[in-house]
Amino acid sequence: MRKYIIGLSVISIFIFAIAWGVMGLKLLDGDYDITVCAYIGVISLILFFVSFLYLKFTRRCSHCGKIIQSGGTYCPHCGNKIEE
Ligand SMILES: [Zn+2]
Repeated sequence: MRKYIIGLSVISIFIFAIAWGVMGLKLLDGDYDITVCAYIGVISLILFFVSFLYLKFTRRCSHCGKIIQSGGTYCPHCGNKIEE
């Protein structure tokens, strides 16, 4: 499950970069019809933040299953090493 969310966040930040890159090129070209690109960019940015927050706040210990909010290598609940 985590792998898919990581993939989703990577893909969404790529889509964001492409959409806003295209938007920037259009603006430089004097083309102000950028609504679709702007929407795609905003949606993918939201998607990125949602998946980022999901990953940040739902990191679980593989031993005791408790949610870990710190970024350490060891679980603060049971002391075991956390495997991704
Ligand atoms: Zn644990």
